[in-house]
Amino acid sequence: MFWRGALQQYIDHPERFEALTDPNSGSCVIYHDSKVVLITDGFPKAVEHILILPRNPLLSKSHPTTALSDNVKRKMEPYIEIAIDYIVEQFTKKYIILDKNLKEDFKKKLIQVGVHRVPSMNNLHIHVITKDFYSARLKNKKHYNSFNTNFFVKWHDLPLQNKPLDNKLVEKEYLRDHDLICCYCGMNFTNKFAKLKEHLKVEFNERFESNTMVTL
Ligand SMILES: [Zn+2]
Ligand SMILES: [Zn+2]
Repeated sequence: MFWRGALQQYIDHPERFEALTDPNSGSCVIYHDSKVVLITDGFPKAVEHILILPRNPLLSKSHPTTALSDNVKRKMEPYIEIAIDYIVEQFTKKYIILDKNLKEDFKKKLIQVGVHRVPSMNNLHIHVITKDFYSARLKNKKHYNSFNTNFFVKWHDLPLQNKPLDNKLVEKEYLRDHDLICCYCGMNFTNKFAKLKEHLKVEFNERFESNTMVTL
């Protein structure tokens, strides 16, 4: 059951979710210390998808677009590095990167870091996600556009001056009305989500090959 407060339990008791995947959410704690908890997103929208959760109660309740000041960002950056290293390790365990340029510059070209302009959860969280959007959990236009339009505020654009005045309007503009644009080649799929999904699979398979060694 989707619940806006679902991330609080990881902030309060990260040790409970350390070794095992939470059967309710599919999430798993991959790192925690006194300041931050890192979890895998239980509904990953790409091959690798991690959430960084600051534990400070005040920060956790703040709006992600305005709370991540330069000072807070500096404190978060070591944790982003941990998330990125984890992602590279996991991704390359699962897939061989065929494209030479991508392979050399995986961190820059294949990972995006940022927050949603209108967050869906009560607790402030930072998304660290691979840019393949190749996942069975990516099920609709809203899912895709939340990472592939300006609904996603990139790390280097934070903080924004103001949080959105009208959440509904922002969601309409970026999630519902915005065309579906392929993140690899820029092809426009308008509202055709199923066609985009097929296309993303082709784009993915051109660049990555399943690492069969791992399945042994
Ligand atoms: Zn989010
Ligand atoms: Zn494409």
